[in-house]
Amino acid sequence: MTQKTAGGDVRLSGISKTYGSFTAVHPLDLTIPQGSFFALLGASGCGKTTTLRMIAGLEDPTTGTVFLGDKDVTDLQPYKRPVNTVFQSYALFPHLDVAENIAFGLRRRGIKSYKKQVDDMLDLVQLGAFAGRKPHQLSGGQQQRVAVARALINHPQVLLLDEPLGALDLKLRRQMQLELKRIQTEVGITFVHVTHDQEEAMTMADQVAVMNGGRVEQLGAPADLYENPKTTFVANFLGTSNLIEAEVVETAGEDTVVTCGGSKLRVPGERCASQPRAGGKLLVGVRPEKVSVAHADDAGTIADGRNRITGRIVASSFIGVSTQYIVDSPACSDFEVYVQNIERDARLTPGAEVVLHWNPAHTFGLDADQDID
Ligand code: ATP
Repeated sequence: MTQKTAGGDVRLSGISKTYGSFTAVHPLDLTIPQGSFFALLGASGCGKTTTLRMIAGLEDPTTGTVFLGDKDVTDLQPYKRPVNTVFQSYALFPHLDVAENIAFGLRRRGIKSYKKQVDDMLDLVQLGAFAGRKPHQLSGGQQQRVAVARALINHPQVLLLDEPLGALDLKLRRQMQLELKRIQTEVGITFVHVTHDQEEAMTMADQVAVMNGGRVEQLGAPADLYENPKTTFVANFLGTSNLIEAEVVETAGEDTVVTCGGSKLRVPGERCASQPRAGGKLLVGVRPEKVSVAHADDAGTIADGRNRITGRIVASSFIGVSTQYIVDSPACSDFEVYVQNIERDARLTPGAEVVLHWNPAHTFGLDADQDID
């Protein structure tokens, strides 16, 4: 069942929200493309739910305009907007069975012949066999799917999801992430999903807005945010990153060359968030899984041209597909470096002297004048 809808992008123009003297959302400009799966990601209290509620019409913006396509909906009552919301609590009617819950919106609008639409929705969320059950006879994931079906049957232009998987255990959460993504692809409407779980946002969304302190700190596709974070907050919020404070030696061709404790590292110019200048500082980052670890005795076998720093293993833990090493390196003033390595080497135990090395292309540079979060 594909339900391509009319409408357009969700466009937030200068919207903000203040409560008394507290600003929950600073003036925000954001375009959510029609038909995309869009995530608002951030820690508790960063303003993501407030932003979602302003799109829904459940919260009046202090300033700014909300557009759906070309239409200014800022002053439109929530129920008049072509938008539906799924909350973490699901809010199903306990006395109605699954089919009746899903049909609720249509019945309220006086629509009598809704069986086919309800059947389509039951198919979409794969709950055909559960149509006659009451919510308390369903698992959390099944209840969540009923809530999604109940919202989608109204053919909204936009479905807003406020931490809809928050009540589920981890395994079910992971399953439901894929399930929601499948449903979104099938119906083709815009999903705006609020979550504090970076893995969830990365798994599901086409685009992620990372929020911090009421502002969007960075917006982009998951892989781009992960590989090219522009701030320490984004670098640390999306996975683990090794951040090393280094001094800029020179900008050589396309690369910036930095030094940290005697090691020279190369950072591709296009991966530097700020314009580096010789003598200035740069925070150099690399993701743990991009780093290889070699025993110091094997240092001669490392290919030329790779970034490398020396260190000593202080801890290692086997985590299934990989082993995680924590390495103390004088090259980065006792900064711990997390390394995941698929090939296991029996000599790589705590105390071993090692060389960490990686392809310079995987290195990014951040403005050093920010706090390391
Ligand atoms: P969470 O993940 O915990 O729901 P969030 O990122 O969704 O967090 P919001 O619910 O948008 O955060 O809240 C943003 C900030 O605004 C918080 O500091 C919150 O305490 C504050 N806030 C939200 N609603 C109100 C209100 N009605 N009055 C005063 N402050 C509020």
